[in-house]
Amino acid sequence: MTDQEYEEHEQDLSGARGMRTDYCGDLTAEDADRVVTLCGWVDRRREHGEKLAFIDLRDHTGVVQCVVDEKHDLRSEYVVQITGTVVKRPEGMENTILATGAIDVQNCTVVVLNKAETPPFPMHSRQEIDETLRLKHRYVDMRRERMQRNLRYRAVIQSAVREAMEDQGFTEIETPLLIASTPEGARDFVVPSRQQPGNFYALPQSPQIFKQLCMVGGIDRYYQIAKCLRDEDLRADRQFEFAQLDAEASFVGQEEIIEFISYVIASATDAVRGVWPESIPQMSWIDAMEHYGTDKPDIRFGMTLIELTGLFEGTEANVFKTECVKGIIVEGGAESIGRNRIDELTEMCKKWGAKGLAWFRVGDDLELDGGLTKFMSEAEQAGLTQMMGAQPGDLVLLQSGDRHLVRDVLGRLRLEIGRPPIDEGLEFLWVVDFPMFESINDNGDPVAAHHPFTMPHVDDVDYLVRDGGESLLKIRSQAYDLVLNGWELGSGSVRIHEPDVQKRVFAALGLSDEEVEEKFGFLLEAFRFGAPPHAGFAFGIDRLTALLLGEENIREVIAFPKTQSGSDPLTNAPTEIAERHLTELGLRTLPPTD
Ligand code: ASP
Repeated sequence: MTDQEYEEHEQDLSGARGMRTDYCGDLTAEDADRVVTLCGWVDRRREHGEKLAFIDLRDHTGVVQCVVDEKHDLRSEYVVQITGTVVKRPEGMENTILATGAIDVQNCTVVVLNKAETPPFPMHSRQEIDETLRLKHRYVDMRRERMQRNLRYRAVIQSAVREAMEDQGFTEIETPLLIASTPEGARDFVVPSRQQPGNFYALPQSPQIFKQLCMVGGIDRYYQIAKCLRDEDLRADRQFEFAQLDAEASFVGQEEIIEFISYVIASATDAVRGVWPESIPQMSWIDAMEHYGTDKPDIRFGMTLIELTGLFEGTEANVFKTECVKGIIVEGGAESIGRNRIDELTEMCKKWGAKGLAWFRVGDDLELDGGLTKFMSEAEQAGLTQMMGAQPGDLVLLQSGDRHLVRDVLGRLRLEIGRPPIDEGLEFLWVVDFPMFESINDNGDPVAAHHPFTMPHVDDVDYLVRDGGESLLKIRSQAYDLVLNGWELGSGSVRIHEPDVQKRVFAALGLSDEEVEEKFGFLLEAFRFGAPPHAGFAFGIDRLTALLLGEENIREVIAFPKTQSGSDPLTNAPTEIAERHLTELGLRTLPPTD
């Protein structure tokens, strides 16, 4: 192409606006006197005298007012093409709320490109619209400002993420959707194979195994914005399918991965909020559990769990003769939390598995008022106010019992009482030094805290013996999580790259040699062909987007999400399939069991 041809081509491209010359939201006083052609939807319509109507015309860039001859019967959401002259509004007549409020488009000719039925819900309602109705007509809902903003910012975040990964030398690689199972702790979605009846593919819970294979394959730094599918109960922060930034790198460890991901997160935050977050603090898993009662602490507020077990050693009060006693303090709570609320909180604690809730109001002279004081010595009462750092007017809440339960119940109570709205502030946190196994299940098998490809702490590898029982719970791993405002954004770990260690982890998890060979033989084999040390991470794009945009529910940042019950009101998925299709797949359905 000659330079001139290239220039002409560029002009063509920039002028490639199809049926319009301009976008609604771009027009300003500088366009005065220009004749423009615009396309879009009728946003609102107002009569103006007998002959004229004001039409707010909307496209994806914004809204502009057009003055239109009354004879057009234009209704809300009609699709139109309007040609007219941009006129500067007289001084004092500008609409300061509208970005294009300094002008309107006059002497318009209108072409109706398509009519529209009355929208299923008001386009400008300030009230919440029933979500199922919104999802049933998502294409209409999408025209509204909230969804337009959310979906476009989502794209901005994805571009920022890609750019930040590529800046750091990562290469995007796609991995398959029809695979053998990858264990991430959830149930698989499966797809029957027609060519091999009776056999099933699993949809990936994550690209975990493939990204590790990419490391064996010498890719060095892999990333992908990957769709992952997990058949779990849906919640505000969970969908069956979700997108994650999935990354893996060779010859690096935890520190470097944390650095890579922190940079990506900062780039995405900057792209949306215009601020580069300061360096992200780190907290050990055990500190998170002991001080916040959860592995995903919301550090936007204090009210941390204070250890009181020592104070009650040798106590006469039966409720505190337990493995663990901890408390939280609610500043000013003696007044702000009334008796009814305390009863409500007590009921919640019971629902979470506790026996009840011990509470004390702190009086003017730091004396304690609460049903349990009569069982406590003076030294215990004084010690309690002192250790809690209580001030007059505070409320002190205590839990006692099994350590796991105390942490969990108080952690939930802390959130219930103190958690700010999700869109207030942004506090990222790295939680590091996770244990290898989080519990022992009913079969006596340990449950991997991350996934079975996570490298145990080098000093703890020798504890990896089958029947290690509770001692397995002491094994530390090289796993780390990223948390934002109390939501788990993502997880990662240094991986096992030696077949022998991997085998020992599988064995500790209770997998027999045959099972290992059947499920992961290919992985162990790959490791025998020169696997580099490697580590990685993945975080949820939906969750990050929701939090950066101040949304409480990830459905608000997904174009076509499923409802809580896993269905899509728009397409009616999931649906039955024809008998002959089932036969082709070698399947027969059974009547529901319950
Ligand atoms: N595969 C993990 C997940 O999806 C992330 C990782 O370890 O890289 O949670």
